[in-house]
Order: sequence, then C-alpha cells, then structure tokens
Amino acid sequence: MSLSQVAREIAASPTLAMNEKARLLKAKGEPVIHLGAGEPKNRAPVTAILSAAAKLKNGDIKYTPTEGIPSLRKAIIRYTEENYGRRVGPENIIVSNGAKQALWNLLYSIINPQDEVVILAPYWVSYPEMVKMMYGVPVIVTPEDGSFHPRMEDIEAVVGSYTRAIIVNSPNNPSGIIYSKEFMTELVEFCEKKGIYMISDDIYHKLIFDGKKWPSPYDLTTKDIEDTKVIALNGVSKVYGMTGFRLGWTIAPKKLTKVMINVQAQTTSTSSILVQAAAEGALTGVQSNLDSLKMTLENNRNVMMNELNAFNGIRCTPPDGTFYCLADFRAYGNDSIKMADLILEKALVVTVPGVEFGMEGHLRLSICGSIKDITKGIERIKWVLDPQSPNELYIGDKKLVRDWL
Ligand code: PMP
Repeated sequence: MSLSQVAREIAASPTLAMNEKARLLKAKGEPVIHLGAGEPKNRAPVTAILSAAAKLKNGDIKYTPTEGIPSLRKAIIRYTEENYGRRVGPENIIVSNGAKQALWNLLYSIINPQDEVVILAPYWVSYPEMVKMMYGVPVIVTPEDGSFHPRMEDIEAVVGSYTRAIIVNSPNNPSGIIYSKEFMTELVEFCEKKGIYMISDDIYHKLIFDGKKWPSPYDLTTKDIEDTKVIALNGVSKVYGMTGFRLGWTIAPKKLTKVMINVQAQTTSTSSILVQAAAEGALTGVQSNLDSLKMTLENNRNVMMNELNAFNGIRCTPPDGTFYCLADFRAYGNDSIKMADLILEKALVVTVPGVEFGMEGHLRLSICGSIKDITKGIERIKWVLDPQSPNELYIGDKKLVRDWL
C-alpha cells in the first residue's frame, strides 16, 4: 500500500489499542475498571443542552461564519476578560472542532518544514505527533528526575534559530501540576524577547484544587494582544465536561487568526451550529456544575493519594488539578506499556502508559471515576505488581490467585 511518509510516521497509540481491548472485555461482561479516562462522568450543563435543543427545534441548521457565530465569540470575549483579565476583540477569536483542531490550525499556520517546537515533558500525546504532521521537529525538554516541573535553563539550552514555538500546558495533562508563576513569567518574557510563540494550552485552567491559583498568561505580559507572542488555547471539553460536543478556540493576534480562518475554511469550515449553541449556553449559563465537578475531583484526588501512599515503592506528586495523576512505577519495572498490559490482562484495570507522555516507568491514573473505582483499581494493581500484597484477590465472586511473582 502506498502511504505518505508523514502519515506512516504518526505513532499508533498503545492507549487506543488497550482501550479497545478493555471495551471488548467489558462487552463480554468482564468487570473492567477504567482508570484511563480523560473525561468526567457528569452530564453537560443544562444550559448547554437547552441552547442546542432550541436551535435543533427551529430547524435552521446551516453553515455559520468559519470563525464561529458572533454570539459565541462574544461569550468567549467575556470569558477571556473574566478568566484571563484581558479584553480581546472578535477578530482575535476562531472557534474550532475542539481544542485539538484549534491547535492543529495554529501549528499549521506558524510552522514551516524543519521548524522546531519545544514541548515540555510530561506532555499531552498529540503535541509531538501534530508537530510531525506539519513536517516540523518536536524538541522535548525533560524535567529533573522526580519532578514534573520544567526548568528555564533546560529550555534555554534547546532554543535556537529554528525554534518557532513552545507549548505549555498548565494545569498539566498528565501530571496534574500547575507551573509556578515565576517560571511562567520568565518563560513569557523569554519567548517575547526571542520572538517565539508561547502556546498556552489552558484546557484545564479552572479544574484546580486546594484553592490554588492559575496564573493567566496574559497577566504576565504588558504587550498588547496584537504584539504579544502568547496564544491561548481553550475549550469546553474539560471544564464543562462536554468532550463529545467538540468545541475549542484560540485567542491570537488578528493577523494570525485570519490565517487560521483561511486554514479552517478550506478544511472543516466550522464547528456545527448546534455545538456552537451548546458552548454558548455553557459559557453564559450558571456555573454551578463546575464547583461540584471540582469538589468531586478534589475528593477523588485525596483518595487516590491515600491509596498510592500506601502502595510500596510508588511515588506520586499530588496533582494541583485536572483529571489525572502520574505515578512513578519504576519500583516495579521500566516498561510502562508492558506494565499497563499486564495490569489489564491480570486484573482488568485500564491505565495509560507513561511512555506516551514522555515519562517511561510511569502510569497515568484517572481520578474521573468513582471512589470505588479508585480504591478497587489500586487494590487490583497492587495485587498484580507487589509481591508483599495478599496472594489472592476477589473480583466479584471470582477468586484469583497470583502465580507470576
Ligand atoms: N489539550 C490537552 C492537554 C488535552 O488533554 C486535551 C484533551 N485530551 C485537549 C487539548 C483537546 O481537547 P478537545 O477535546 O477540546 O479537543
């Protein structure tokens, strides 16, 4: 079969393969516990559903302007002012089918072949693959062992004449940590001095625990929106639990936004009007869903930390936010795909191998499920890996005996 070189080089996802395995097991009635999920169980906000339903009812479902309907962009302007402390104009915004497509449009608009994009490990799996799709070169910066926080000196060491952008994701998927305000301030200053884009993926920016604060990247620059190198990426998937709707956006200088609109106009045109209406409903409606989602996640985080603290040899930095933590399982092996596979095969628990995020020997564990999922899930993982744990495990009525350690 004849395939393009770039398509051939896009990594197949071991996570998708494992999710498929888990789905088949579940379909057979097996009691699978999913600690892999990147979405909460809550329903979409009622204001989002009503707003989309009203559109559907009137039957006027047509193309919209490529950059999104004016009323949604107005809602995003208000959202940006409230959450980022920055007033932007409608020409600074383009809405897309998820933050994923927004990032795609952006990278397509700024990267020439061989340009480098700095990515901070642990990173969201799609960053390096998307950069490669643009014929660009992902340059990974890895933190000191035992930390998930990047260091400025490591970034400075890899930035050169080919560097086009740095992607920052804080709160971070997969580690859940928030980068310090000092680091972010230095990074914004550095990017502006060097003329490098600082792409701020803020998709988890409100899912923060312990009353911690998220530093808005626009608060860290005195430059006008047309001159700053900061570009914000956001959407409704995570904060509103609306992953299936598919809506995200970028805030960028007008000139760049115009180019992104051209890119989107020739590819997907725009996000569906139904989805845009739903997003507008979520952004402008009551925001109480968020508080309850945060409370549930924070409580789950605490349970997860207690469970991991009682797990021999496991180290885990408590997440400041998001849906995840990234636990260091190197006490039990260095091959995270092998470990995740074994855990699924023996104990029916889905985890995500750290190698996908540039952190081999780690597993990403989701806190989106129930408390029972977390406690039972960790109990089962312990049984698979830790020879000190009891040799027998009950899954429902079924008694399992460990015979591989
Ligand atoms: N950025 C990060 C860090 C994410 O974790 C995700 C979703 N997994 C996205 C972007 C994409 O979000 P969306 O659903 O809006 O495409």
